[in-house]
Amino acid sequence: MSDSTRVYSYSAVLMGSPILLKLFAHNEALASRVFRLIKQYEDLLTVNRAQSQVMDINHAAGQHPVVVSAPVYALIKCAKSASLLPQSAFNLAIGPLVKRWRIGFKGDSVPPADEISHLLTLTNPEQVVLNDDDNSVYLAQMGMEIDLGAIAKGYIADRVRDYLRQEGVEQGLINLGGNVQTLGTPEGGWSIGLKKPFSTSGAMIGTLEIENKSVVTSGVYERFFEQNGQLYHHILDPRTGYPLDNELDSVTIISADSIDGDIWTTLMYGMGVEKGCAALRSRPDIEAIFVTKNKEVVLSSSHLYRFTLLDREYRLTG
Ligand code: ADP
Ligand code: MG
Ligand code: MG
Repeated sequence: MSDSTRVYSYSAVLMGSPILLKLFAHNEALASRVFRLIKQYEDLLTVNRAQSQVMDINHAAGQHPVVVSAPVYALIKCAKSASLLPQSAFNLAIGPLVKRWRIGFKGDSVPPADEISHLLTLTNPEQVVLNDDDNSVYLAQMGMEIDLGAIAKGYIADRVRDYLRQEGVEQGLINLGGNVQTLGTPEGGWSIGLKKPFSTSGAMIGTLEIENKSVVTSGVYERFFEQNGQLYHHILDPRTGYPLDNELDSVTIISADSIDGDIWTTLMYGMGVEKGCAALRSRPDIEAIFVTKNKEVVLSSSHLYRFTLLDREYRLTG
């Protein structure tokens, strides 16, 4: 590799995830500013700590609206409209169920059915009341909780891309624990690995080559527990209150904005391969790669990227 194409990598752990920034010029100061930006957004959006703007909204559920900053309001508004799409598996008000299941955290176990049905009554996205006049958010019932865990990384990845662009960076990559966002077209494009589900050695099923695109993967293997031979993973079905049960091991979305990757990975979990591919026909700007439990790799279409299959245990269809 000649010096002009040398990649400089910077890493940190933020939002409970490994963060990787790649630049084509050494710039430690810029990398620190990027990590600081990510941390500022994490501080606003997290629900894994006692205090944040989102926690302020949750603490005031059933009591009063809370005025939040413009980016938090915009993200909640976006998350609410994704939740209200027809048949949407995405639900920003899923918080009470996420907290109860504790999937991937200490003490996770299957909650009693009557508790789940009670918690489902606290997850109606219509009851996230937004007021554009003062950027306030009100949860109409006591016990309701917003959870932006499925969308925050994508939003932040897009803000990092915007920031890098504004700083005059022509080529860069940010990986926020599985949300990859890229800037520019380095020689040969960016090559992104598609993880092999449940592999403990970091094996890849294949690679995607992309330019100026986001790649988001959501997999059942990321966070789960097993009880009586059954696997319970961290993407919950807002209709039943249980983890989404279908043929998928993972879904990857290729799109311009990483926030769309976040929304659509969750939507695709709700629809499965067939309905998912049908829904994507009206969105040529968004493409999906489904990895199924019976080792099929299904491409909804592939105009936005090039896929190379590496693992011969898998069959490529679509
Ligand atoms: P990861 O955390 O591995 O990036 P996702 O992006 O798929 O995975 O987000 C999963 C997280 O989103 C869960 O940990 C939970 O906080 C939240 N969540 C779970 N189910 C839903 C759902 N149906 N709609 C919106 N958010 C969800
Ligand atoms: Mg995610
Ligand atoms: Mg997601």
